[in-house]
Amino acid sequence: MRLLLIGPPGSGKGTQAVRIAEHFGITHIASGDLLRRHVAEGTSIGQSIEEYLNRGDLVPDGVVMDVLRKPVTAASRSGGYVLDGFPRTVEQAEAAYLVAKTLGASVQIALHLDVDRAELVRRVLARGQATGRADDTEEVINHRLQVFEDHTRPLLDYYAHREGLITVNGARPVDEVSWSVIVQLQRVQRQLDA
Ligand code: AMP
Repeated sequence: MRLLLIGPPGSGKGTQAVRIAEHFGITHIASGDLLRRHVAEGTSIGQSIEEYLNRGDLVPDGVVMDVLRKPVTAASRSGGYVLDGFPRTVEQAEAAYLVAKTLGASVQIALHLDVDRAELVRRVLARGQATGRADDTEEVINHRLQVFEDHTRPLLDYYAHREGLITVNGARPVDEVSWSVIVQLQRVQRQLDA
């Protein structure tokens, strides 16, 4: 199965992606994790994008596509992927589709984790305290939520009219969300297999 997760910061994409990957035996690919690794390792890509990450701005499309191309292609050949954090814009979705369709690697279903703003802010600030992540601060979180509204929310409509969109209430306890996600994805898988 090849799916992607769409949700604002703090919606639980990373947590649910790990569980989905384990349950369906597919590869979890997190664009934010891959980009942060470049920054931590001080690669030339990392040096060029650090400011974007710290400000909570989107990294230029070309860089993100370069970083993701290999892992997405490899995962498609070995059972599928759950993409967490990509695409973030309709432009990225369109560009990725053009590359992926010739490889048989294009996405089959999008999953939206829906969480209200107050809960998102609460979760992100708690994560920031626990991990020290530079963009999980009060100043940056409001900007990241605005970036989601302006650039990423239009993807919900995009996928609803194309491959399909499942929306799950992500504001519930984590196990309840996982259960609901997995039941719905099993249904999708049966349809894909049919
Ligand atoms: P995340 O871990 O998904 O919250 O992403 C953290 C940061 O990485 C974002 O605020 C962006 O700066 C960058 N990033 C992650 N994925 C993308 C993407 N698909 N396009 C552009 N920037 C991204």
